[in-house]
Amino acid sequence: MDVAAQWAGGILNVDLQAVAKNYRTLCQVIQRPDQTSGPHPICAAAVKADAYGLDASLVAPVLEDAGCRHFFVAHLAEGVALRPSVKNPQSSILVLHGPPPGTARDLHEAGLVPVINSMEQLAEWRALGRVLERRLPAVLQVDSGMARFGMNAGEVAKIAADPALLDGIRTMLVMSHLACADTPEVSSNQAQLEAFRHLSASLPDAPRSLAASSGIFLGPDWHFDLVRPGAALYGVNPTPGKPSPVSPVIRLQARVIQTRAVPTGQAVGYGGGFVARRPSRIALLGIGYGDGFLRSISNQGTAILPSQPDVPLPVIGRVSMDSLAVDITDLEDGRVRAGELIDLIGPYNTLDAAATAAGTIGYEFLTDLGRRYHRTYTRNDPLA
Ligand SMILES: *Cc1c(COP(=O)(O)O)cnc(C)c1O
Repeated sequence: MDVAAQWAGGILNVDLQAVAKNYRTLCQVIQRPDQTSGPHPICAAAVKADAYGLDASLVAPVLEDAGCRHFFVAHLAEGVALRPSVKNPQSSILVLHGPPPGTARDLHEAGLVPVINSMEQLAEWRALGRVLERRLPAVLQVDSGMARFGMNAGEVAKIAADPALLDGIRTMLVMSHLACADTPEVSSNQAQLEAFRHLSASLPDAPRSLAASSGIFLGPDWHFDLVRPGAALYGVNPTPGKPSPVSPVIRLQARVIQTRAVPTGQAVGYGGGFVARRPSRIALLGIGYGDGFLRSISNQGTAILPSQPDVPLPVIGRVSMDSLAVDITDLEDGRVRAGELIDLIGPYNTLDAAATAAGTIGYEFLTDLGRRYHRTYTRNDPLA
């Protein structure tokens, strides 16, 4: 292990091979069983928020090598930052929020494609197309029932009635987004599917996209021509409550700073948030909320010593800025030493479990991952 890793309070490994593997898994899921039902849908990737905190400049090239040609970011600034990392001339970077007012030309000159969400954005993009005397590519987003981004039914009807509103625009994709894809039992998924079919039918004939990670697992009706997973690529289970179809991507290890014995009745940490009910031993680990390791995991999470995966080590007391405590009483005395690495997220304690313990979702856990970890990136595992 290199010195920088020894100096850090925590080590975050990102398995880029697992990202590529998850991409291939999702490509498999969307394969149509027979060619007669049309061409296979293609799989794009959401790499917004710096690839959910994992570093888009490293993740995007790996996905590009795996065959991905469509990369979604949220902001124009993210698209500009990502542009040098996406090298294939066939690849496009799509900006989900579209151009902020007055930036259409910047977005175009940066070699990005906007998702057009409103009549205002449509007007700006159309105006630029007119000035440049060419049809500029754009994704049209419609709101199929989430009331987030996209044009509503009335606006879609206006566009349908007046094709001049799309002058100067080449519709590359028509998309919408699902509000409840991770809860397949709710009826709104079917309602959004029908609304999307209906709305997209009155727009120019172009490829269509509705599903992100969880939407892929609602079934082939939701796949259309392109799916846009993010979280599932990064190891978040897209089918909560069922076994995960994707592989874990991150491992988060914390360094033991010291261990100590704690008598019965002793309060541990800020606010005395935990009181020992037996003579205990605890280990103090060098990761805290200053690393994005959420404070809400206080008294909730589980750590694992990799050599003893059968012994869960509960996080006890409040998470501090730079440290947290785990109960190691159930391990043999002397088993845990200063300097040792303990998994906070690893093969035996998943990202999803840590997120649940923190009262949140894997998405938030990933995007909160701090800048203080020593980061390592696994690239070439021949077994992956
Ligand atoms: C974030 C986002 C995605 C990816 O969502 P996941 O649930 O992470 O797969 C796809 N489409 C849109 C519009 C998004 O905002």
